Amino acid sequence: MCFGWWSLRKARKLVLVSGVFFYLCAAATPAYSWGFWGHRYINYNAVFLLPPSMFGFYKQHIGYLTEHAADADMRRYAIKEEAPRHYIDLDQYHKNDSSRIPVQWQDAVNRFSVDSLNAHGIVPWWIMVMHQRLKKAFAEKDMEQVLKLSADIGHYIADAHVPLHASSNHNGQKTDQLGIHAFWESRLPELFAEKQYDLLLGRADYLKEPLPFIWERVYESGAAADTVLGMEKDLSRMFADHERMSFEYRNNRLVRQYSEKYAARYHKQLNGMVERRMRASIYAIASFWYTAWVEAGQPDLPFNTPSN
Ligand SMILES: [Zn+2]
Repeated sequence: MCFGWWSLRKARKLVLVSGVFFYLCAAATPAYSWGFWGHRYINYNAVFLLPPSMFGFYKQHIGYLTEHAADADMRRYAIKEEAPRHYIDLDQYHKNDSSRIPVQWQDAVNRFSVDSLNAHGIVPWWIMVMHQRLKKAFAEKDMEQVLKLSADIGHYIADAHVPLHASSNHNGQKTDQLGIHAFWESRLPELFAEKQYDLLLGRADYLKEPLPFIWERVYESGAAADTVLGMEKDLSRMFADHERMSFEYRNNRLVRQYSEKYAARYHKQLNGMVERRMRASIYAIASFWYTAWVEAGQPDLPFNTPSN
């Protein structure tokens, strides 16, 4: 694992704090999103796109925003309503109807019902719920909530950028590609993000229409899902099984995973896709933070609020 940006000591401490629960869950279930490392890396980098009036506060609490970037995934094990907030199976809606899903929640409910929306995922609408909560926290100057909600909305926005979070074949289970979810969104970023990605993105923008904005990102994800799956399928036919997979120690556990050689080949074939989605995630998160703050009336942000 690459932890250069984050000291090894801190990473070890985090591993200890996360404890047995995390390992049991991680071992028993597939990764659900960018992966713990990826989510932290994305939230961390989003801070640097903020304007000066926000940067001091967010930079002071960058440790909190980073460490809590994957809390939303942990809640999936405890709260049954949590899971659909992380994805939307676009292909399930387009089976019988090629028109787009209604942008607004109420219009979508009228057309599909709450049950079927929850069955296929609600990530774009849930991001707007979080956006409203973040705006309210800014307006009330509840800095503890601002930090908590900033970390969480960062998570959901990053999830919305992952192609397999917009497909019902989210872990390749329909095409005999089990494991591809974590391969794309965890293994590839962990291997290549720090060494190769350019994450200097300028600055956040005010989003006049946050909901249509996030819908566009979701449709981009959905459009990329076939490429993610198809390319890996084709590539897998060119590699023997022992070349595709290898054993490596991760957090003192010997695990079987996609080999570095295979990952490098797949990553190259994807032609910058993971980097583009990571860059888009970072930009979107910073822009949502910034937009919520502007909509709340641009309150002064204290530099000395203790973080949890
Ligand atoms: Zn997630």
